[in-house]
Amino acid sequence: MKKRILLLAGGQSGEHEVSLLSARSVLAALPRDQFDVTPVVISKQGRWLPPTETVRALQDGAAPTGGDLVLHRAASAEGYDAVFPLLHGPMGEDGTVQGLLTLAGIPFVGSGVLGSAVSMDKVMTKQVLASVGIAQVAWRLAVRREWQQHPDSVRARAADLGYPLFVKPANLGSSVGISKVGTPAELDGALNLAFGLDRRVILEAMTTHRPREIEVGILGNDAPIASPVGELRFEAEFYDYETKYTEGRATMHIPAPLPPEVAERVRTTALQAFRALDCAGLARVDFFYIEQTGELLLNEVNTMPGFTTTSMYPKLFEAAGLSYSELVTRLVGLALEDR
Ligand code: ATP
Ligand code: MG
Ligand code: MG
Ligand code: MG
Repeated sequence: MKKRILLLAGGQSGEHEVSLLSARSVLAALPRDQFDVTPVVISKQGRWLPPTETVRALQDGAAPTGGDLVLHRAASAEGYDAVFPLLHGPMGEDGTVQGLLTLAGIPFVGSGVLGSAVSMDKVMTKQVLASVGIAQVAWRLAVRREWQQHPDSVRARAADLGYPLFVKPANLGSSVGISKVGTPAELDGALNLAFGLDRRVILEAMTTHRPREIEVGILGNDAPIASPVGELRFEAEFYDYETKYTEGRATMHIPAPLPPEVAERVRTTALQAFRALDCAGLARVDFFYIEQTGELLLNEVNTMPGFTTTSMYPKLFEAAGLSYSELVTRLVGLALEDR
């Protein structure tokens, strides 16, 4: 019998459009002889769109706005064998939707509540990874209320780290709200931007030398495997939103030209992080490699990475011999696996 799959896309985060692109690719790739797939686009307001509006939103790459948050539609997920929550960022990749699906008793692709929530929050991720001895940049946390009431103590934390530094909303992706701050004069603007998007903000030291940007894919539940290692190269100051999503701004190198020993360290460390964070199904783990010193620093873990046919995660597994459609099929299989 064919498996009935509910594919969720869009969502309420700043990565809504990116999710629609990913979903279009997954929808086209799930083999129809094995799966009956129903896409449902979630609007930026949280409305689960009916079929005709969903189809239009996927075609246009944009969902209609307006309307209210409609949670009870989740109950309609009951008729499905599994859900593929192809949602990025808050209210999708952060454990919220995973909690809803867990309550409804429906298996789903990717990490559960714990792995999703902890991996989405860059500060919680860093704390967990530090506890298992994984090397990372120096960092500090700031919360919105502190920034409003004691801005000087937040500024002092930035001074501790030294400039340049990075300011990021703790729970976002696609580089939305991230600034590279070159001097103290630019700090307030960067903090205001990040606090406009999240209650929690992370300040991160920059490495002394410009790092190489290394990414690796993980696939599996309690016996996960790591993909070949990839590298991103670009001209921009850092891997910002425009560089990520403008055709031709960045190039992907798979396998990354790294000494075999370094590539192996990337894979081993990523698997260790995946386990420490209780991830499941899939994750893309991003690293900084500092060639001059040989340091490998784990940057972050993405539990629902970009998933178009040209995205890094599927490309990494393609290099391992798994086609895009085999990969999505495998992910649904992992969702249905007893654990
Ligand atoms: P993704 O789309 O991968 O989920 P994200 O929004 O979660 O991205 P990060 O991966 O944390 O953001 O950072 C985005 C980019 O900013 C990195 O790829 C890198 O180019 C730059 N960057 C972030 N933090 C640092 C740092 N501490 N030092 C140097 N560069 C950094
Ligand atoms: Mg991320
Ligand atoms: Mg992300
Ligand atoms: Mg990243």
